[in-house]
Amino acid sequence: MARIVQKFGGTSVADIERIRNAAARVKHQIDAGNEVAVVVSAMAGVTNQLVEWTSRANRLHDAREYDVVVASGEQVTAGLMALTLQALGVEARSWLGWQIPIHTDGVHGKARIEAIETGEMVKRLASGQVAVVAGFQGLGPGGRITTLGRGGSDTSAVALAAALKAERCDIFTDVDGVYTTDPRIVAKARKLNKITYEEMLEMASQGAKVLQTRSVEMAMNHRVRVQVLSSFADLPGTLVVDEDEIVEQRIVSGIAYSRDEAKITVQRVADRPGVAAAIFGPLAENAINVDMIVQNISEDGHTDMTFTVGQSDLDRALAVLEKCRTQLGFGALKPDPDVVKISVIGVGMRSHAGVAQQMFQTLAERGINIQVISTSEIKVSVLIAAEYTELALRALHTAYGLDAPG
Ligand code: ADP
Ligand code: ASP
Ligand code: MG
Repeated sequence: MARIVQKFGGTSVADIERIRNAAARVKHQIDAGNEVAVVVSAMAGVTNQLVEWTSRANRLHDAREYDVVVASGEQVTAGLMALTLQALGVEARSWLGWQIPIHTDGVHGKARIEAIETGEMVKRLASGQVAVVAGFQGLGPGGRITTLGRGGSDTSAVALAAALKAERCDIFTDVDGVYTTDPRIVAKARKLNKITYEEMLEMASQGAKVLQTRSVEMAMNHRVRVQVLSSFADLPGTLVVDEDEIVEQRIVSGIAYSRDEAKITVQRVADRPGVAAAIFGPLAENAINVDMIVQNISEDGHTDMTFTVGQSDLDRALAVLEKCRTQLGFGALKPDPDVVKISVIGVGMRSHAGVAQQMFQTLAERGINIQVISTSEIKVSVLIAAEYTELALRALHTAYGLDAPG
């Protein structure tokens, strides 16, 4: 007997038929004598619709009310999944974030899980009852509903698996594993049987939305065995594992892309000590994450500062900078939302030179201009015009020898 967590993403619970298919997978585990906690996402498309409504109601919305609206999708699926399980003769009850509770901090819209009280759930699991948990949501300070950021049900699942000391956490989705790159864009992408926590962390944080970044962080910290697999096919998926479990060592394991980037150039800002702090301080105070940064060569005591923020933070970032205009004394603010960040990732980069050079060369041969570059120990990222996304991904995938045979 084992205790497992099964998470079903939006496409896996997109309609009643699919919920029934997911429920059958849960029943299968119950019939095998296991204890099962199920984490569900909102039905496909629902969260997008809810987000759109909040921004139509109020573009610069109150994040606490945003959370009230967008958390509702998961409530519907949790109830439907519990009902479907009951119809299959499986004892089940739904749990909303506040009922467990899953305690989070108060950063509405991208809250972090702080603690999960599992006492009552553990008792019920032991009696054979399936716990159907609404993903993506938690209980913040002051009793308010919080959400964990887009894709946050993955994190709900891994956090629950850690809190329940589950044997494994199966993430059921619409692809049968983690691929070398998004298989929807590169037909020659290859499925990985295993990927290291570190590589998966970089892949996720650089845009491969198959797992939310925080879920990988959490899995790594608590050593949760995560498997990504399809809810539509009975195939083994991808295991996220420690580095020493990987036999075949690759230099580049995968390529990720993120369209969720927006570039801002602050033109003609005085080139003096403290200027970076003066620009990035107010952004940080407003919880706006800055990712890539370049400062151009200085001319007559002035410089251009270019950096990227999340697409959804662009308007707020511009508003924050506009407020500091007199104090900072810059020339103009140039926003550009039509950019994409492409990252090549692999633990093998630690011991091999030339990965970045190959990336620059490959893009140059296709006439693709690189706007910003950033690197870490196991990744190289470039910012390019969004229109070249597919071309760049396919060219790089081939250049690093990642294409599937045939
Ligand atoms: P879910 O709704 O199940 O959470 P998501 O849409 O969040 O599913 O994540 C699955 C999607 O992630 C896939 O449909 C695929 O397009 C995308 N994806 C991006 N990069 C990768 C990758 N390297 N491997 C697998 N899927 C990827
Ligand atoms: N429903 C939420 C979203 O679409 C959470 C999730 O699916 O993981 O972002
Ligand atoms: Mg997801």
